[in-house]
Parts: sequence; C-alpha cells; structure tokens
Amino acid sequence: MKPTNNSTLEIISPKVRVDDDFIETDYEYQTSHVKRTAGGQLQVHPQTTALKIRTGRQVPKLGVMLVGWGGNNGSTLTAALEANRRQLKWRKRTGVQQANWYGSITQASTVFIGSDETGSDVFAPMKELLPMVEPNDIVVDGWDISNLHLADAMVRAEVLDVALQDQLYEQMAKLKPRPSIYDPDFIAANQSDRANNLIKGTRQEQYEQIRRDIRDFKQRSGVDSVIVLWTANTERFSEVQPGLNTTSQELLASLKANHSEVSPSTIFAMASVAEGCTYINGSPQNTFVPGLIQLAEEKNVFIAGDDFKSGQTKIKSVLVDFLVGAGIKPVSIASYNHLGNNDGKNLSAPQQFRSKEISKSNVVDDMVASNRLLYGANEHPDHVVVIKYLPYVGDSKRAMDEYTSEIMMGGHNTLVIHNTCEDSLLATPLILDLVILGELSTRIQLRSAEKESASWVPFKPVLSLLSYLCKAPLVPQGSQVVNSLFRQRAAIENILRGCIGLPPISHMTLEQRFD
Ligand code: NAD
Repeated sequence: MKPTNNSTLEIISPKVRVDDDFIETDYEYQTSHVKRTAGGQLQVHPQTTALKIRTGRQVPKLGVMLVGWGGNNGSTLTAALEANRRQLKWRKRTGVQQANWYGSITQASTVFIGSDETGSDVFAPMKELLPMVEPNDIVVDGWDISNLHLADAMVRAEVLDVALQDQLYEQMAKLKPRPSIYDPDFIAANQSDRANNLIKGTRQEQYEQIRRDIRDFKQRSGVDSVIVLWTANTERFSEVQPGLNTTSQELLASLKANHSEVSPSTIFAMASVAEGCTYINGSPQNTFVPGLIQLAEEKNVFIAGDDFKSGQTKIKSVLVDFLVGAGIKPVSIASYNHLGNNDGKNLSAPQQFRSKEISKSNVVDDMVASNRLLYGANEHPDHVVVIKYLPYVGDSKRAMDEYTSEIMMGGHNTLVIHNTCEDSLLATPLILDLVILGELSTRIQLRSAEKESASWVPFKPVLSLLSYLCKAPLVPQGSQVVNSLFRQRAAIENILRGCIGLPPISHMTLEQRFD
C-alpha cells in the first residue's frame, strides 16, 4: 500500500490494510515495565501488547486562526505560505533565493526507512509517511490588537527581504486581523500604543465574540476544521486558585463573573475548545490553568503547548542531553539573549520576562534526573536566563550560552555558543509543523487487538506528541515531561512509522554487524 497518493513509499506487508477511509496496521508494541523491590533492585518485565493502529486517510481542508496574526511570526507565516504557494523567487545580494520551508520537520526533514540491498540507508520525506495537510491548502485568518493589514504588518516586522515583500504586498494587503481581546494587565504596558483593534465588553461577551469569529471564518472560507494558535505577546502568569480556575465549572463561573484573573489567552482557549477546535499555545504563559485542561478533557478537544522551542532552548535540549548521556556533568549554564523586535520589547517588562524565564528554566530537568551517577537526588546545574531588549538588532536575535561541565578527575570543560538569526524565521516553520502534526493527530486512533469489541481511542486531549516543538511541554497528568529533543523526535518518527506498520527505529543493524 502507498501511505499517500504521491508517496514514493509502498509498504508490502500482510499486517497493513488500506481502504478509502483508513490505513490500519496490526502492531506489536514493546515496552519494559520496571518494578522497584524493597531491596533497591530494579525488576524489569519486557511486555508486548498487540494493538491495531488506524489513521484516517481523508485530509480535511484546514483553517488556521492565529492570535497575534499581525505580529512577526503571524505575518511571516502568512507571507511564507503565500510565497511557497506561488513558488516565488527574488534577488538578494548573493544571488536568487527561492521560497522554501527550511526548519519545518514535516516539509524539510526525512525519516530513516531502512537499508537497501547494498546496505545503504534509505530515507523518505516525513510528509510522505502519512496523509498530511499540504501547506499550500492551508487558509489563514486571525486576530490582533493592532489593526494593520498583513502587508503593513509584514513591513513593520522587518523580517523578510524587501524584494520578497514587494511581490507579496498586494495580496497581503487584503488580509485584515479581526479585533481582539486586550487586557493591559496581562501583556506589557509598552504594547498599549499598538492596541487599536479591540473587542469591547465583558469577558463572557468577548468569549462569545471569539466563538462567533471561529464559526464565521469556517463558514466563509469553507474549511473543514480549524486550529487556533496563540502567537500573540507573552502574558504574565495568571493566578491559580481554588474557586477561580481549578475546575472547569470554576473557570466557566469566573468567566461569567468577569473575574480579572481570567486572561485573554485563557478566554481564547476556552472559546476554541467550546468550538471543538484544537488550541496551541506558542507563548510561555499558563493559559492552560487546571480548569481549562479539564474543559478540554470533557470536550475531547486537543490542547498543546507551551512556547515554541525554536533557538536557544532547542540547542540546550540537544547539548545537555549529549553531555549527560556522555557521562559528562554540566554544572553551570548561563544563557543570555538580546533582541530588538516587539517580542523583546514586551519581554523587557518584569512579569512577562518571568513567564519566559520559567518556560526556559525547566528544560534540562529530565536529562539531569536521568543520570543519578552524576547528580544527587536534589542536585541541579546552576542555570540562569537573561533577556535584554536592544531595538537596533530587530528580529535578528542573539543568544549566547556558556555551558561549564565537570569532566574526569575534577577537570572542566566550557562550551560557548553564539547563535544569531532572524527569530521569526526559526519560529514560523514550527507553527506550520504544530498545525500539520496537530491535525494529523486527530486522525490517529488505536485499540487493543486482543478483543475484537475493544473501541478505538484517540490521543489524550493534552497532545504531548507536539513536545518536540515546545519549550515547556504540556503533558497529560501522570505522564513524564520529556525535553530531550532526540527523544521527542523519536516519538514522532516512531509513531508515524507505527501507523504504516514499520517497527520503531532501533539502529541495531544486526544484519550488518553479524554474518
Ligand atoms: P510580536 O510582538 O511581533 O507579535 C505578537 C502580536 O500579538 C503583535 O502583533 C501584537 O499586536 C499581538 N497581540 C498582543 N496581544 C494580543 C491579544 N490579546 N490578542 C491578539 N493579538 C495580540 O511577537 P512574535 O515575535 O511574533 O512572537 C509571538 C509570541 O511567540 C511571543 O509571545 C513570543 O514570546 C513567542 N515565541 C516566539 C519565538 C520566536 O519568534 N523564535 C519563540 C518562542 C516563543
């Protein structure tokens, strides 16, 4: 069977069946269950579970609604979709550049498939493994507290080459953000001068308006499903208190009572969940208060976040994993950033910086906890994050990191990394992956193969599969947070492979190591 119509792959296996609606596989899921004995031994029980996995083949026409549409990320995503759709080319000092999706795992990365008869590795584009939404078919809409149309928003962002902006201007000028919810208590006071496109009224009225907007977009554009994604400014954390937002009922009552601690992002998430639309949080704030998570669970709607993992944190979740895995002990991590875009301006306010600091801080926890040979039970590397606003550098963000580790016999190793690039050109492909993989996740289900009567179950509403793309991954209660980029990517690759009946990638290559 061919997983997608234009896939170069064809899977020849009696365990994989395909019809008009589904790709279905018989899958042996292998795990190791560990029990700790009173004497401190680890008893390991390898287990095999017979499962069936099925993936819907009908790809919907997808609409994406961005909160913060007129920002650097929002305008860059919209421009990139249009530039790729039209396969635009433009002249730079160094030659002709063509639109592409570098930085997107679904569009620009490949997955190891197997070895050919000569023993060579064979890879296929990730997007050919399963039917996925084509970027060219995505329809974008959204909200912004600033009323600039998308062409002027793109110019304001100062991200894309002017020769590209000029080709896109006319088309993008037709796109205008819907008015949004502005609460100066949640984003930095320095944003007030762009807040001229606002939904008035109480929180309940604002919530109703967002719900109407989602329905209106769906109806006018003719899309089958909508994903709402927050790429607006970072808010301060909201308080979490019994009586306020710790259950869905409390949260709904607080909305009705116009309680000042119900943040704009939580209102957007509530409206999105109520409309049955996946909601993704690209910023660090605690939109997903416990009551919101409960709402998503009650309605069986996906939520995912938090905070795009684009630059410094992505490297950190690779480098610390490598060091700890190599038996080297990181003891001090200093991370400095300076940037001059509007995100940096907003983050120059202490409460909004605090949200980012929290999101950036926990990223090494799981890797440190994985190696008790190096770290005592409560031991942790010193870890400091600094962000400074420096207007002149614009979107060209600088991240400087120093990692000091203890090596053998009390020696030290210090690594210094200087990372410079357009921040939004790293974040935008992640938005594309989040919505494409988020949509795909709605079509994947599994069930036990042992009982014919077992019903199909979807992923849990807290969609941790998107952790690869998030700095502070939200996971279902009782699940482990995984920050390691390799492990996060392996989860995506192996689940996609499982959906077409391929085993997880083991890299054992026994056939090449033994006669
Ligand atoms: P930006 O300031 O350029 O864009 C944010 C937009 O949101 C602005 O146009 C602003 O007017 C709008 N906005 C603010 N509050 C709003 C509200 N309540 N409703 C609707 N619109 C609102 O910022 P950006 O560079 O596009 O980044 C967006 C978010 O993504 C930030 O929170 C940032 O921390 C987060 N993020 C960015 C990156 C990255 O760019 N590499 C990485 C991780 C996280």
